[in-house]
Amino acid sequence: MFRSVAALAASLLGATSALAAPTYIHAGKLIAVPGQPVRGASTIVVDDGRIVSVLEGHVPAPEGSPVIDLKTRTVLPGLIDAHVHLASDRGGNEGLAAAMTDSVPLKAHEAYWNGMKTLRAGFTTVRNLGDDGGKVLALKEASRRGWLMAPRIIDAGESISTTGGHMDGRVGLADHLHGAYDTENLCDGPDDCRRAVRRQIGRGADVIKFATTGGVNSGTGLATRMDEDEARALVETAHAYGRKVAVHAHGAAGIKLAVRAGADSVEHGTVMDDEILKLMKEKRTFYVPTLSTVNGYLERLAANPNAYPPAIKAQIDWRIGITGKSLQQAYPAGIRIAYGTDAGVSKHGRNADEFELLVKFGMPPAEAIKAATVNAAELLGVDKETGTIEPGKAADIIAVDGDPLADVRVLKAMKFVMARGQVVVAP
Ligand SMILES: [Zn+2]
Repeated sequence: MFRSVAALAASLLGATSALAAPTYIHAGKLIAVPGQPVRGASTIVVDDGRIVSVLEGHVPAPEGSPVIDLKTRTVLPGLIDAHVHLASDRGGNEGLAAAMTDSVPLKAHEAYWNGMKTLRAGFTTVRNLGDDGGKVLALKEASRRGWLMAPRIIDAGESISTTGGHMDGRVGLADHLHGAYDTENLCDGPDDCRRAVRRQIGRGADVIKFATTGGVNSGTGLATRMDEDEARALVETAHAYGRKVAVHAHGAAGIKLAVRAGADSVEHGTVMDDEILKLMKEKRTFYVPTLSTVNGYLERLAANPNAYPPAIKAQIDWRIGITGKSLQQAYPAGIRIAYGTDAGVSKHGRNADEFELLVKFGMPPAEAIKAATVNAAELLGVDKETGTIEPGKAADIIAVDGDPLADVRVLKAMKFVMARGQVVVAP
């Protein structure tokens, strides 16, 4: 018998169903709490989707208890990507065409497909920072009901910006196409911005995402596209409802605006200065670098040099050239880094590519892994549930060959993935 609808769904999908007796996982090496010393041979006991105990050595399983043999592997907590857009990863002109041809239900299936790629890449939790039509809100609910597998999702609903700002889908389109775009996510003036936050919370948003600047992809420029009273109203309303706030910002003025207003994280944060670093340190604001966007741009342009309209292509060239610079300022300044790729701009399922970029721009591997587990869990508000391998937490457990503390690239080849006790990638 299946212990849950989720187990039934997993079985139908061909994944291993949740097992009836406690499962014993034998790890070669164990990074139970990233940032703390690595443990040697260990046994993790999992029951009903949760970690029951973490024991030293390879403890034999009692009669009837299944054993998962990861004795030659390094075991870690499931990874967290704090910045994804599951609904699509087709950008530029291709993305625009898909927006015109693909129905919302079809794109909801695309979101499921991208979620599975993400999960199989070892990312058992994601923060989805914006899509329209409620596609990922629906995916999250379907997963909660056990109808399908998905990563644990913290969802922003639709991202918010001012009219003509980064999340105004009408920018660059002919007037007669504007009706295809919802404008409830746009706000002008503090009262209207309070409404926009309440609207997303009413739809089920766990977190609020807004943009203080234009965006590389949207042709809205990189300068500030929001006033201070608007940013404050957005943050205050979100916090009053117990929701954290992620702010998309590229230019320095827009980042300052976000941090002063009380943002919980700065996304992209392309142009930083000493004043920003001081403010972020004081306010303990997380920085989510999203360096992987560069991979997305470069690959798309390699396949088609005309993948983007010329004005956007110029912004992309700028972002490619400057990528990593702000991380090189922020990490040594002691700013807390949370791992986020902006997958959707880059390809879903390749979320682990960000590790290599974080290390390239100055983070030690151990810190990069901490950013994708402990730090991201805290930013997402799920640190009681996931981010470490400790008794009481959800059984989000992954394994790789080799030593990720010596070479983070081994994290690109997942050898085992368990999410909430369900095996997604068998060893
Ligand atoms: Zn994004």
